[in-house]
Amino acid sequence: MNQFTLSTDLITSDILPVILQSKVARQTYLDKRVTKSQRGTKRTRSQRARERLQTKEHLVGLARELHEGELADKLDRCHSRLSVLTCGRHIARIIPNFTCEFRLCPDCGRRRSRKLQTKYLPLMKAFMLHNKVTPVHLVLTQAHRKESRKESIARIRNSFTKLTRRSFWKQYFKGGTWSLESAKDKNGLHHTHLHIIGFRRKFFDIELLRDEWLAVTGDSHVLHLKPILDLAAGLQEVVKYVSKPLDIRRFGAADLKEFLGLKNMRMFGTFGEFRDFCKGFEPSDNDDAMSELESLARDLVEGCACPQCNAPLFDLRLSKSELPQFYEQIESSPPGKVRRSSH
Ligand SMILES: [Zn+2]
Ligand SMILES: [Zn+2]
Repeated sequence: MNQFTLSTDLITSDILPVILQSKVARQTYLDKRVTKSQRGTKRTRSQRARERLQTKEHLVGLARELHEGELADKLDRCHSRLSVLTCGRHIARIIPNFTCEFRLCPDCGRRRSRKLQTKYLPLMKAFMLHNKVTPVHLVLTQAHRKESRKESIARIRNSFTKLTRRSFWKQYFKGGTWSLESAKDKNGLHHTHLHIIGFRRKFFDIELLRDEWLAVTGDSHVLHLKPILDLAAGLQEVVKYVSKPLDIRRFGAADLKEFLGLKNMRMFGTFGEFRDFCKGFEPSDNDDAMSELESLARDLVEGCACPQCNAPLFDLRLSKSELPQFYEQIESSPPGKVRRSSH
Protein backbone atom coordinates (compact mmCIF):
# COMPACT_ATOMS: atom_id res chain seq x y z
CA MET A 1 0.00 0.00 0.00
CA ASN A 2 2.88 2.37 0.68
CA GLN A 3 3.68 2.84 -2.98
CA PHE A 4 0.31 4.52 -3.38
CA THR A 5 0.15 8.21 -2.74
CA LEU A 6 -2.50 8.69 -0.14
CA SER A 7 -3.61 12.01 -1.54
CA THR A 8 -7.07 10.44 -1.83
CA ASP A 9 -7.81 10.85 -5.45
CA LEU A 10 -11.54 11.02 -5.40
CA ILE A 11 -13.00 10.02 -8.67
CA THR A 12 -16.16 11.84 -7.78
CA SER A 13 -17.46 11.78 -11.31
CA ASP A 14 -17.69 8.04 -10.88
CA ILE A 15 -20.18 8.39 -8.08
CA LEU A 16 -21.54 11.90 -8.49
CA PRO A 17 -23.76 11.40 -11.55
CA VAL A 18 -26.04 9.12 -9.59
CA ILE A 19 -26.49 11.66 -6.84
CA LEU A 20 -26.47 14.91 -8.77
CA GLN A 21 -28.03 13.76 -12.02
CA SER A 22 -27.42 17.25 -13.33
CA LYS A 23 -28.90 17.49 -16.77
CA VAL A 24 -26.97 19.29 -19.46
CA ALA A 25 -28.23 22.83 -19.88
CA ARG A 26 -30.52 23.21 -22.85
CA GLN A 27 -28.81 24.48 -25.98
CA THR A 28 -30.65 27.61 -26.92
CA TYR A 29 -28.80 29.94 -29.18
CA LEU A 30 -25.37 28.40 -29.00
CA ASP A 31 -24.07 27.64 -32.45
CA LYS A 32 -23.32 23.94 -32.39
CA ARG A 33 -20.32 24.35 -34.65
CA VAL A 34 -18.44 26.20 -31.96
CA THR A 35 -17.90 23.42 -29.52
CA LYS A 36 -18.44 20.50 -31.85
CA SER A 37 -14.77 19.56 -31.49
CA GLN A 38 -15.25 18.66 -27.85
CA ARG A 39 -18.89 17.79 -27.53
CA GLY A 40 -19.06 14.51 -29.41
CA THR A 41 -21.64 11.96 -28.52
CA LYS A 42 -22.22 10.78 -25.00
CA ARG A 43 -19.64 8.12 -24.29
CA THR A 44 -19.60 5.50 -21.60
CA ARG A 45 -17.08 5.56 -18.78
CA SER A 46 -15.20 2.62 -20.26
CA GLN A 47 -14.92 4.45 -23.58
CA ARG A 48 -13.70 7.60 -21.87
CA ALA A 49 -11.17 5.62 -19.81
CA ARG A 50 -9.92 3.95 -22.96
CA GLU A 51 -9.62 7.33 -24.71
CA ARG A 52 -7.60 8.71 -21.81
CA LEU A 53 -5.30 5.72 -22.11
CA GLN A 54 -4.86 6.28 -25.86
CA THR A 55 -4.28 10.01 -25.40
CA LYS A 56 -1.60 9.27 -22.86
CA GLU A 57 0.10 6.68 -25.01
CA HIS A 58 0.05 9.19 -27.83
CA LEU A 59 1.63 11.87 -25.61
CA VAL A 60 4.28 9.45 -24.33
CA GLY A 61 5.17 8.59 -27.95
CA LEU A 62 5.47 12.28 -28.88
CA ALA A 63 7.58 13.01 -25.79
CA ARG A 64 9.96 10.18 -26.71
CA GLU A 65 10.15 11.51 -30.26
CA LEU A 66 11.24 14.86 -28.83
CA HIS A 67 13.76 13.13 -26.53
CA GLU A 68 11.83 14.38 -23.52
CA GLY A 69 12.57 11.15 -21.65
CA GLU A 70 11.72 12.46 -18.21
CA LEU A 71 8.32 13.72 -19.31
CA ALA A 72 7.61 10.44 -21.12
CA ASP A 73 8.51 8.41 -18.01
CA LYS A 74 6.38 10.58 -15.73
CA LEU A 75 3.37 10.32 -18.04
CA ASP A 76 3.86 6.61 -18.36
CA ARG A 77 3.94 6.14 -14.61
CA CYS A 78 1.03 8.48 -13.85
CA HIS A 79 -2.08 6.44 -12.91
CA SER A 80 -0.35 3.26 -14.11
CA ARG A 81 -1.42 1.29 -11.02
CA LEU A 82 -4.67 1.95 -9.28
CA SER A 83 -6.15 1.02 -5.98
CA VAL A 84 -9.89 0.85 -6.59
CA LEU A 85 -12.34 0.74 -3.71
CA THR A 86 -15.41 -0.97 -5.10
CA CYS A 87 -18.41 -3.12 -4.27
CA GLY A 88 -18.03 -4.75 -7.68
CA ARG A 89 -20.81 -2.66 -9.16
CA HIS A 90 -19.92 0.89 -8.10
CA ILE A 91 -16.62 2.64 -7.60
CA ALA A 92 -16.33 4.63 -4.41
CA ARG A 93 -12.77 5.80 -4.83
CA ILE A 94 -9.67 5.37 -6.97
CA ILE A 95 -6.21 6.07 -5.63
CA PRO A 96 -3.46 6.28 -8.27
CA ASN A 97 0.13 5.23 -7.58
CA PHE A 98 1.46 8.51 -8.95
CA THR A 99 0.23 11.75 -10.54
CA CYS A 100 2.47 13.49 -13.08
CA GLU A 101 0.70 16.89 -12.95
CA PHE A 102 1.63 17.53 -16.57
CA ARG A 103 -0.84 20.04 -17.95
CA LEU A 104 -1.89 17.93 -20.90
CA CYS A 105 -2.23 14.68 -18.95
CA PRO A 106 -5.89 13.62 -19.24
CA ASP A 107 -5.90 11.88 -15.84
CA CYS A 108 -4.37 14.82 -14.01
CA GLY A 109 -6.63 17.15 -16.00
CA ARG A 110 -9.70 15.40 -14.60
CA ARG A 111 -8.38 15.86 -11.10
CA ARG A 112 -7.80 19.55 -11.77
CA SER A 113 -11.31 20.05 -13.15
CA ARG A 114 -12.81 18.36 -10.11
CA LYS A 115 -10.81 20.61 -7.83
CA LEU A 116 -12.00 23.68 -9.70
CA GLN A 117 -15.61 22.53 -9.51
CA THR A 118 -15.28 21.89 -5.80
CA LYS A 119 -13.76 25.30 -5.29
CA TYR A 120 -15.91 27.46 -7.54
CA LEU A 121 -19.40 26.02 -7.26
CA PRO A 122 -20.00 27.27 -3.70
CA LEU A 123 -18.30 30.59 -4.50
CA MET A 124 -20.51 31.08 -7.54
CA LYS A 125 -23.66 30.30 -5.61
CA ALA A 126 -22.69 32.75 -2.87
CA PHE A 127 -21.77 35.44 -5.42
CA MET A 128 -25.09 35.05 -7.24
CA LEU A 129 -27.12 35.28 -4.07
CA HIS A 130 -25.19 38.24 -2.82
CA ASN A 131 -25.34 40.22 -6.05
CA LYS A 132 -28.63 39.10 -7.60
CA VAL A 133 -26.97 38.16 -10.88
CA THR A 134 -27.69 35.28 -13.25
CA PRO A 135 -25.08 33.12 -15.01
CA VAL A 136 -24.70 32.84 -18.77
CA HIS A 137 -22.27 30.81 -20.88
CA LEU A 138 -20.63 33.07 -23.43
CA VAL A 139 -18.34 31.73 -26.16
CA LEU A 140 -16.06 34.27 -27.80
CA THR A 141 -14.34 33.34 -31.03
CA GLN A 142 -11.90 35.14 -33.28
CA ALA A 143 -11.15 35.20 -36.99
CA HIS A 144 -8.42 32.72 -37.93
CA ARG A 145 -5.03 34.09 -38.87
CA LYS A 146 -1.68 32.59 -39.78
CA GLU A 147 -0.05 32.69 -36.35
CA SER A 148 1.37 30.44 -33.66
CA ARG A 149 -0.75 28.94 -30.90
CA LYS A 150 0.85 31.33 -28.47
CA GLU A 151 -0.06 34.33 -30.62
CA SER A 152 -3.58 33.08 -31.12
CA ILE A 153 -4.11 32.66 -27.38
CA ALA A 154 -2.52 36.03 -26.55
CA ARG A 155 -4.72 37.72 -29.17
CA ILE A 156 -8.02 36.44 -27.78
CA ARG A 157 -6.98 37.12 -24.19
CA ASN A 158 -6.01 40.70 -25.05
CA SER A 159 -9.31 41.24 -26.84
CA PHE A 160 -11.19 39.92 -23.84
CA THR A 161 -9.27 42.20 -21.45
CA LYS A 162 -10.20 45.15 -23.67
CA LEU A 163 -13.82 44.03 -23.74
CA THR A 164 -14.03 43.87 -19.94
CA ARG A 165 -12.79 47.46 -19.71
CA ARG A 166 -15.58 48.86 -21.86
CA SER A 167 -18.51 50.57 -20.27
CA PHE A 168 -21.03 48.35 -22.07
CA TRP A 169 -19.47 45.25 -20.51
CA LYS A 170 -19.32 46.76 -17.04
CA GLN A 171 -22.91 47.81 -17.28
CA TYR A 172 -24.09 44.25 -17.92
CA PHE A 173 -21.53 41.90 -16.38
CA LYS A 174 -20.38 41.78 -12.81
CA GLY A 175 -17.59 39.27 -13.33
CA GLY A 176 -17.13 35.56 -13.88
CA THR A 177 -14.67 32.90 -15.06
CA TRP A 178 -12.99 32.17 -18.36
CA SER A 179 -11.38 29.07 -19.83
CA LEU A 180 -9.50 28.50 -23.04
CA GLU A 181 -10.19 26.03 -25.79
CA SER A 182 -7.64 25.79 -28.54
CA ALA A 183 -7.70 23.64 -31.66
CA LYS A 184 -6.60 23.78 -35.28
CA ASP A 185 -8.84 23.94 -38.30
CA LYS A 186 -8.34 21.73 -41.34
CA ASN A 187 -6.02 24.31 -42.87
CA GLY A 188 -3.76 24.17 -39.83
CA LEU A 189 -4.84 27.58 -38.53
CA HIS A 190 -5.49 27.90 -34.83
CA HIS A 191 -8.97 28.49 -33.64
CA THR A 192 -9.03 29.60 -30.08
CA HIS A 193 -12.20 30.21 -28.09
CA LEU A 194 -12.88 31.64 -24.70
CA HIS A 195 -15.63 30.00 -22.68
CA ILE A 196 -16.96 32.42 -20.16
CA ILE A 197 -19.35 32.04 -17.28
CA GLY A 198 -20.53 35.60 -16.95
CA PHE A 199 -22.69 36.89 -14.13
CA ARG A 200 -25.19 39.10 -15.87
CA ARG A 201 -26.81 42.04 -14.10
CA LYS A 202 -29.62 42.39 -16.63
CA PHE A 203 -30.71 41.41 -20.11
CA PHE A 204 -29.19 43.05 -23.15
CA ASP A 205 -29.38 42.82 -26.90
CA ILE A 206 -26.85 40.24 -28.11
CA GLU A 207 -26.30 42.33 -31.25
CA LEU A 208 -24.86 45.10 -29.08
CA LEU A 209 -22.42 42.65 -27.51
CA ARG A 210 -21.47 41.47 -31.00
CA ASP A 211 -20.69 45.07 -31.98
CA GLU A 212 -18.55 45.48 -28.87
CA TRP A 213 -16.60 42.31 -29.66
CA LEU A 214 -16.05 43.48 -33.23
CA ALA A 215 -14.85 46.84 -31.92
CA VAL A 216 -12.14 45.27 -29.72
CA THR A 217 -11.05 42.52 -32.12
CA GLY A 218 -11.24 44.52 -35.33
CA ASP A 219 -12.39 41.53 -37.36
CA SER A 220 -14.40 39.09 -35.24
CA HIS A 221 -18.07 39.21 -34.48
CA VAL A 222 -18.86 35.54 -33.83
CA LEU A 223 -19.99 34.87 -30.30
CA HIS A 224 -22.61 32.71 -28.68
CA LEU A 225 -24.59 33.14 -25.55
CA LYS A 226 -26.84 30.80 -23.65
CA PRO A 227 -28.37 31.03 -20.22
CA ILE A 228 -27.09 28.56 -17.63
CA LEU A 229 -30.10 26.83 -16.12
CA ASP A 230 -28.17 24.46 -13.89
CA LEU A 231 -25.06 26.02 -12.38
CA ALA A 232 -23.34 22.72 -11.52
CA ALA A 233 -23.78 21.46 -15.09
CA GLY A 234 -22.74 24.82 -16.54
CA LEU A 235 -19.58 24.89 -14.48
CA GLN A 236 -18.81 21.30 -15.35
CA GLU A 237 -19.15 22.13 -19.04
CA VAL A 238 -16.73 25.03 -18.78
CA VAL A 239 -14.07 23.38 -16.60
CA LYS A 240 -13.86 20.42 -18.94
CA TYR A 241 -11.73 22.70 -21.13
CA VAL A 242 -9.28 22.83 -18.26
CA SER A 243 -8.83 19.07 -18.47
CA LYS A 244 -8.62 19.06 -22.25
CA PRO A 245 -7.95 22.54 -23.52
CA LEU A 246 -6.26 21.35 -26.68
CA ASP A 247 -6.86 18.86 -29.44
CA ILE A 248 -4.15 16.59 -28.04
CA ARG A 249 -5.10 13.48 -29.96
CA ARG A 250 -4.36 15.29 -33.20
CA PHE A 251 -1.07 16.63 -31.85
CA GLY A 252 2.15 15.95 -33.69
CA ALA A 253 5.60 16.24 -32.12
CA ALA A 254 5.81 19.86 -33.32
CA ASP A 255 2.58 20.72 -31.46
CA LEU A 256 3.88 19.22 -28.22
CA LYS A 257 7.13 21.08 -28.65
CA GLU A 258 5.22 24.32 -29.18
CA PHE A 259 3.15 23.64 -26.08
CA LEU A 260 6.26 22.93 -23.97
CA GLY A 261 7.47 26.36 -25.01
CA LEU A 262 4.32 27.99 -23.63
CA LYS A 263 5.42 28.19 -20.03
CA ASN A 264 2.75 29.14 -17.53
CA MET A 265 -0.03 29.42 -20.04
CA ARG A 266 -3.14 29.83 -17.98
CA MET A 267 -6.18 27.87 -19.04
CA PHE A 268 -8.67 29.19 -16.52
CA GLY A 269 -9.17 32.38 -14.58
CA THR A 270 -11.64 34.73 -12.97
CA PHE A 271 -12.42 38.35 -13.80
CA GLY A 272 -14.26 41.41 -12.55
CA GLU A 273 -15.86 41.55 -9.15
CA PHE A 274 -16.04 37.77 -9.00
CA ARG A 275 -12.25 37.72 -9.02
CA ASP A 276 -12.08 39.89 -5.90
CA PHE A 277 -14.82 37.84 -4.31
CA CYS A 278 -12.72 34.66 -4.76
CA LYS A 279 -9.51 36.11 -3.35
CA GLY A 280 -8.40 34.28 -0.29
CA PHE A 281 -10.09 31.06 -1.37
CA GLU A 282 -7.43 28.68 -2.64
CA PRO A 283 -8.24 25.20 -3.92
CA SER A 284 -8.07 23.01 -0.90
CA ASP A 285 -8.12 19.36 -0.07
CA ASN A 286 -9.44 19.85 3.40
CA ASP A 287 -12.83 18.50 4.32
CA ASP A 288 -14.49 21.90 4.63
CA ALA A 289 -14.02 22.61 0.97
CA MET A 290 -15.16 19.19 -0.14
CA SER A 291 -18.67 18.19 -0.90
CA GLU A 292 -20.38 15.96 1.58
CA LEU A 293 -20.10 13.05 -0.81
CA GLU A 294 -16.39 13.57 -1.32
CA SER A 295 -15.64 13.64 2.37
CA LEU A 296 -17.78 10.55 2.75
CA ALA A 297 -15.82 8.75 0.06
CA ARG A 298 -12.56 9.85 1.60
CA ASP A 299 -13.31 8.13 4.88
CA LEU A 300 -14.30 4.86 3.27
CA VAL A 301 -12.08 1.83 3.68
CA GLU A 302 -12.30 -1.82 2.78
CA GLY A 303 -15.28 -3.43 4.50
CA CYS A 304 -17.36 -0.23 4.65
CA ALA A 305 -20.76 -0.23 2.97
CA CYS A 306 -20.94 1.09 -0.61
CA PRO A 307 -22.65 4.52 -0.49
CA GLN A 308 -24.84 3.50 -3.39
CA CYS A 309 -25.93 -0.05 -2.63
CA ASN A 310 -24.64 -0.88 0.86
CA ALA A 311 -22.72 -3.94 -0.34
CA PRO A 312 -19.30 -4.28 1.30
CA LEU A 313 -16.43 -2.48 -0.40
CA PHE A 314 -13.21 -4.22 -1.24
CA ASP A 315 -9.88 -3.04 -2.55
CA LEU A 316 -9.04 -3.99 -6.10
CA ARG A 317 -5.57 -3.46 -7.59
CA LEU A 318 -5.69 -2.69 -11.29
CA SER A 319 -3.18 -1.71 -13.90
CA LYS A 320 -4.09 1.23 -16.15
CA SER A 321 -5.09 -1.02 -19.01
CA GLU A 322 -7.43 -3.02 -16.75
CA LEU A 323 -9.48 0.00 -15.69
CA PRO A 324 -11.48 0.33 -18.96
CA GLN A 325 -12.23 -3.40 -18.78
CA PHE A 326 -13.44 -3.03 -15.22
CA TYR A 327 -15.76 -0.18 -16.23
CA GLU A 328 -17.03 -2.37 -19.06
CA GLN A 329 -17.76 -5.17 -16.64
CA ILE A 330 -19.71 -2.75 -14.42
CA GLU A 331 -21.61 -1.34 -17.39
CA SER A 332 -22.67 -4.77 -18.59
CA SER A 333 -23.64 -6.18 -15.20
CA PRO A 334 -27.34 -6.07 -14.27
CA PRO A 335 -28.24 -3.17 -11.98
CA GLY A 336 -28.71 -5.18 -8.76
CA LYS A 337 -31.13 -4.44 -5.99
CA VAL A 338 -30.47 -1.36 -3.90
CA ARG A 339 -30.23 -2.49 -0.34
CA ARG A 340 -31.68 -0.35 2.39
CA SER A 341 -29.43 0.62 5.22
CA SER A 342 -30.39 -1.23 8.42
CA HIS A 343 -30.85 1.91 10.49
ZN1 LIG B 1 -0.84 12.71 -15.00
ZN1 LIG C 1 -22.35 -0.46 -4.67
